[in-house]
Amino acid sequence: MDFVTRFRLPGDGTPHLPTDAAEALSWLAEGNARYAAEQAGPLAAAGTPKQSPYGVVLGCSDARAPLELVFDAGPNELFVVRVAGNVLGDEALGSIEYALANFRPSLRLLTVLGHTGCGAVAAAVQAYLSPKHSAGVAFSRSVRAVVNHILVAVRSAALSLEQTWGPSVANDPGYSKALAEAAVFLNTAMIAYQLAQELRPEDAGVKVVQGVFDLAEGKVGTIRGGQLRPAPTGPQELVDLGLTLAAAPLVTRHLSPS
Ligand SMILES: [Zn+2]
Repeated sequence: MDFVTRFRLPGDGTPHLPTDAAEALSWLAEGNARYAAEQAGPLAAAGTPKQSPYGVVLGCSDARAPLELVFDAGPNELFVVRVAGNVLGDEALGSIEYALANFRPSLRLLTVLGHTGCGAVAAAVQAYLSPKHSAGVAFSRSVRAVVNHILVAVRSAALSLEQTWGPSVANDPGYSKALAEAAVFLNTAMIAYQLAQELRPEDAGVKVVQGVFDLAEGKVGTIRGGQLRPAPTGPQELVDLGLTLAAAPLVTRHLSPS
């Protein structure tokens, strides 16, 4: 399909990009024309369908993690909320609450999906490690709002690393990468926990699960195996997850052996 071939890099390794805004606009227009042509048959036959997603997914805005494509889902299957760092601000929470209130007959699952190499998490790690060099974050109220949501996961990941490897781990050349890697998983799990606590969707039979999408492999997974796992049920589970992450090869591969 077209989106797959366009995502791939051509032979010389450079991304295929529109040369200017006008060409970008034509890409959108042509893309929508193709989509409308594909949908014309089914829509004409059934009319505008009632919205009935089986899942809600809260994920990052990252262009490399398109949620419907990641789960091979079609229209009307997923109610998607995308925001940088998959953070749970008021608007995201309100959107999910709306879905829970209105799509109960079809809704089965609420998923929080983080992803490897998340720029929002990397920005939060940088703000945590060197606040003096994070002017872009400090002087933008809106960017700061995203980063602030993630800082709690970064602090928690830092504590876990320190507890596991000692305070000198912060001097390791690969520390910021290890911290970012762990923080992606913790941020995702913390948000799933928060959602489960605030909205109590399980009372209505909607399970909350969480996982991390690996940009390199295209797979969704968790540090404890499996693709998607239930949201943590208590703070201790999050502490344990932090310690598991601190010792996981995914994180320790960035650290120099002592
Ligand atoms: Zn991201």
